[in-house]
Amino acid sequence: MATSEVAGARPHEKLHRAVILLGPPGAGKGTQAKELARKYGVPHLSTGDMLRESIAKGTSLGEQAKPIMARGELVPDSLVLKMVAQRIEEPDCANGFVFDGFPRTVAQAQYLGQMLREHGFRKPFVVHLVIDFALLMKRLTGRRVCKVGGEIYNIYDKPPKAAGVCDNDGGELIQRPDDSAEVIGQRLEAYGKQTAPLVAYYKRLGLLHEVDAAKRVEEVKRQLFEVVRGAK
Ligand code: ADP
Ligand code: AMP
Repeated sequence: MATSEVAGARPHEKLHRAVILLGPPGAGKGTQAKELARKYGVPHLSTGDMLRESIAKGTSLGEQAKPIMARGELVPDSLVLKMVAQRIEEPDCANGFVFDGFPRTVAQAQYLGQMLREHGFRKPFVVHLVIDFALLMKRLTGRRVCKVGGEIYNIYDKPPKAAGVCDNDGGELIQRPDDSAEVIGQRLEAYGKQTAPLVAYYKRLGLLHEVDAAKRVEEVKRQLFEVVRGAK
């Protein structure tokens, strides 16, 4: 699955910073991060995708993360931070990147701030995708993801042209094992306890922007592009 999407990008505008998409599972972070990364020609860094790749490759990180992700809990900060620190050292990250699913704890956010300073980046631009939890179950149980290119579909709201097949590359569409009703409950609880405090954290730092994520994909994209275009 792709964690870095710069193919076909013809960026007219430069990002030169980290954009963080914050919001609960199912808010649309992956869907919108792909669009934003494509627009600015920078990598889309999904820590969930990176961990799933490690599981698929059978690395030691993947073996440690697999049972934790299956339960819907957060992978320890130490493992995630090491993975992210290595990734942002890669040359394609020099002009900025879009984080999806990271940071997820205050400790991760603090460490990220330090890493960005060390690499000479400006402060991150944080967008909270605001959504009522009542909408998330349908989005998450209906999610299907292309095994080849990582394109995100939804059997209710954004179905592929042919069932089970990706429109872009013909790849097989799969359902994530953690998109089952029981695990979704645990993931939402983890979000509430460990990640939601980041909204107040970034607000205090004056870095938080909000977008209404309950709207249709195109409208959320329009609002998101507008807010990022206005970034100082
Ligand atoms: P996240 O990365 O925040 O978990 P995704 O981008 O994977 O969320 O989206 C979760 C599911 O909801 C996917 O099936 C996606 O197609 C669908 N989705 C995303 N944004 C919207 C939206 N604005 N309206 C309806 N469905 C959406
Ligand atoms: P996601 O693809 O963002 O929905 O993440 C799927 C799962 O990967 C989560 O439920 C966590 O178990 C794990 N994960 C992803 N990103 C992080 C992170 N930044 N910190 C801790 N765990 C993470």
